[in-house]
Amino acid sequence: MAVWLLMGPPGVGKGTAAALVCARAGCRHVSTGDLLRAAVKARTPLGLEAEQVMGRGELVSDDLMFALLEDEWRQRGDVLLDGFPRTRGQAERLETRLGTGDSGIRGAIGLEAPEAVIRARLEGRRVCRNCGATFHIRFRPPSRGGVCDRCGGVLEQRPDDRPEAVRRRLEVFAEQRAVLEPYYRQRGLYHAVEATGEPDSIAARILAVLGKPWE
Ligand SMILES: [Zn+2]
Repeated sequence: MAVWLLMGPPGVGKGTAAALVCARAGCRHVSTGDLLRAAVKARTPLGLEAEQVMGRGELVSDDLMFALLEDEWRQRGDVLLDGFPRTRGQAERLETRLGTGDSGIRGAIGLEAPEAVIRARLEGRRVCRNCGATFHIRFRPPSRGGVCDRCGGVLEQRPDDRPEAVRRRLEVFAEQRAVLEPYYRQRGLYHAVEATGEPDSIAARILAVLGKPWE
């Protein structure tokens, strides 16, 4: 099992790219955010613990995250790991657990896009208050302004996507990248991938790094 790490700022399109890449390359897209939500929903022992911690407004501990990921390492097939690690401590521990190379961490893919592009993607997003459908004022506008095409509900901007919140989210990511990019560069594992343009083109660039050309 090889593990590829997928890194990139919020709004860069990690989830979409990961889904396209894994559909082509046959890898498993493992998002730590999704794992956490699934564990909480399934009320597993780890999920209950995570729910308590998050309920207190605290971050889930490294021990809990590593325990959650342990199930993934037992399965077959290559993994595209999305959203983890976020700190140097986590990166070191992951390397201790998996090693590097063909049966460990194969590489870290850093998706990059100009900040203006990311801000436009996030700040233009509108979500239906009623059914949760997502639109974008420029890239996927509803046929009637402010109204959901699917159910007629009111579209709103999530608090997370307001300019001030977006600025903070990008700052948090910049701090993580300032630590993780040099960490993986020093090990010869870092691959910068331009994340502008169509999702298919972004996925094709990632597949090229994975050594699995788009066919
Ligand atoms: Zn709707």
